[in-house]
Amino acid sequence: MTSWERYGRTRPADGIALRSRRGAVGDTWWGRRLAETMEAVVDIGRVTRGKSYARSGQVLSLSVEAGRAAGRVQGSEETPYEAEVRLRPFGPEDQVIAAQVVAASPQLVAGLLAGELPQELEAALASAGVGLLPESTVDVDFDCSCLDWGWPCKHAAAIVYLLAERLDDEPLALLALRGLELERLLSPDAPAAEPELVDCLADFLSPRATVDAIPPSGNAFDERDESLLRAALVAALPAGPVDPGLIEETMLVLRNSAIGE
Ligand SMILES: [Zn+2]
Repeated sequence: MTSWERYGRTRPADGIALRSRRGAVGDTWWGRRLAETMEAVVDIGRVTRGKSYARSGQVLSLSVEAGRAAGRVQGSEETPYEAEVRLRPFGPEDQVIAAQVVAASPQLVAGLLAGELPQELEAALASAGVGLLPESTVDVDFDCSCLDWGWPCKHAAAIVYLLAERLDDEPLALLALRGLELERLLSPDAPAAEPELVDCLADFLSPRATVDAIPPSGNAFDERDESLLRAALVAALPAGPVDPGLIEETMLVLRNSAIGE
């Protein structure tokens, strides 16, 4: 099988190129903060390569929906990879808090109704103990069909940068990414929706996920279980900033021990 990567090259692609040609990505406070937050909590080397991918048009498609942004990314192989980034959706309690915060401020209501994402919303939510943008590795997860064990791989990192610019253009998509419905946010008395995938994802990605959630048998390193292992690792660490290098080293040891069995 011929692989361009064998020769250190990437197949050229003509996808969605970043508007940003150098420096930081994101024109708005939320777009820029999303990119910067990712850079602060993940492997910076792969993130840099992901930014190059995003600038050179390697991302062929991008879709943004509740809890996730996904796209096809052209790498070294003929078939594009399927990569995605997931943001931990607000749980039911945080959704109620968010609705109360918005209801208490006519300015926030007016801004959201106008399709804007007021920076005051982030500050007001933060003072209520709820973070709008991801703040740690607990709030994000990545996935990709490539064989790179990196977290994230450069393909998923490229998706993050395209997502930051997408949010520049569609600010309220950030609410959807966090599992917040604008209608519920503006009408706190509206009936709650039936539990959906985003709620399940919230539990799945939550630090409350424990090693008990890991199936007792089988290969612990298939795609899903690795996310659980990672969540359990993060949950086991003391509160505060998490060193991504520590997580990756631990995951590497676990992987190698699994392979050795
Ligand atoms: Zn990948």
